Amino acid sequence: MSGQKIKPMGPIPPGFTAENGMLLIGGCGAAALADEAGTPLFVYDAGLVRTRIAALRAVLPDGVGLHYAIKANPFPPLLALMADMVDGFDIASKGELAVAQQAGMVPEHISFAGPGKRDDELDAALRAGVTINLESEGEAARALALAERLAVRPRLAVRVNPDFELKGSGMRMGGGAKPFGVDADRAGALARQVIAAGAEWCGWHIFAGSQALDADAIIAAQAQTVALAARLSDEVGAAPPLVNLGGGFGVPYFAGDEPLDVGTIGAALVETLAARPAILAPSTFALELGRYLVAPAGVYLTRVIDVKTSQGERYAVVDGGLHHQLAASGNFGTVVRRNYPLAIANRFGAPVADEPVTVVGCLCTPLDRLGEAVALPPVAPGDLIAVFLAGAYGASASPSAFLGHGPAPELLVDEG
Ligand SMILES: *Cc1c(COP(=O)(O)O)cnc(C)c1O
Repeated sequence: MSGQKIKPMGPIPPGFTAENGMLLIGGCGAAALADEAGTPLFVYDAGLVRTRIAALRAVLPDGVGLHYAIKANPFPPLLALMADMVDGFDIASKGELAVAQQAGMVPEHISFAGPGKRDDELDAALRAGVTINLESEGEAARALALAERLAVRPRLAVRVNPDFELKGSGMRMGGGAKPFGVDADRAGALARQVIAAGAEWCGWHIFAGSQALDADAIIAAQAQTVALAARLSDEVGAAPPLVNLGGGFGVPYFAGDEPLDVGTIGAALVETLAARPAILAPSTFALELGRYLVAPAGVYLTRVIDVKTSQGERYAVVDGGLHHQLAASGNFGTVVRRNYPLAIANRFGAPVADEPVTVVGCLCTPLDRLGEAVALPPVAPGDLIAVFLAGAYGASASPSAFLGHGPAPELLVDEG
């Protein structure tokens, strides 16, 4: 007995079941999926994404658009599915512009944010006719000059660095000095300038933060966002066609995290919008969400290569690691390493062993831990470990070139 203390894991997202002890993803057994594509691999369940979007739509006010921030997961088959289910894609590079268009999203419903857009990216966006969310006065000047050279009327929105923050969010993107957007006290002047230059002014983009699990904090930020949009529009003297209210809806990754109560948020947004200032009467509104829509639908499957003991502590060494699932290793924007939900896919729901096990990846660095001192059923070489919440910021947000193992295959499983 090592006496090693068990460290808790986050909750396994709802919707996963097993058949004869084998985890099912989109109705397919994990072992069959692993045999088909090889391990490690990412599997995304289309049905879970559909259900999630439908449930969210059911609580949002009518007419509030749902945009998908594709940086969360730009896997082309998933994007093609999303293109039919959401009202717009938010992109942040020329590469994302290309995959967004290939997925079938029309340019009128694509908006391009992100600091440091190069001239060739602005040029591609202008030619395609997508909305550019301006991040600075300098970017506005470059976009206007390029548009004139191309003889196109640019579609420009102003991204505002809000003068408030989304409280409790994992990544704050507003409140204080930020590289994103134009400070609220200069945003009105910039909008007036782009209108005067003859551009099609598309409205405001106000994104206050990410990964919030506190409904009250999101409700407060949405109310402040609507108030700020109204104040700025009054300064401009024009109604914004679109107010992008940002997003920030989080998912429960860790022990003690509770799912976000989107019903409360939707009900509050109905009231906020019903009571909006007159200048926003003709405006439309949108939310832009990334991880909330896709994270719970993804599973990273990795096979146990070796089981070993060091000074009384047990290790399961798997064929995957942080080069595919950086976030689960605790090295993507988290301060303290905590355990994502894990399971043994081929012993799903079996009783846990007496001793905890630490699941480490195959990379030669102590950073490569997928689960620390977790309570799992007895584990043996050949077992498949499932790392949940792998549908966002997994494959595309991990250093897959690190140590030469290469990227993991991705599968979208769609039962229809
Ligand atoms: C990253 C990002 C998102 C998506 O964030 P999630 O936390 O995945 O919802 C949305 N909008 C902007 C501007 C972003 O930078």
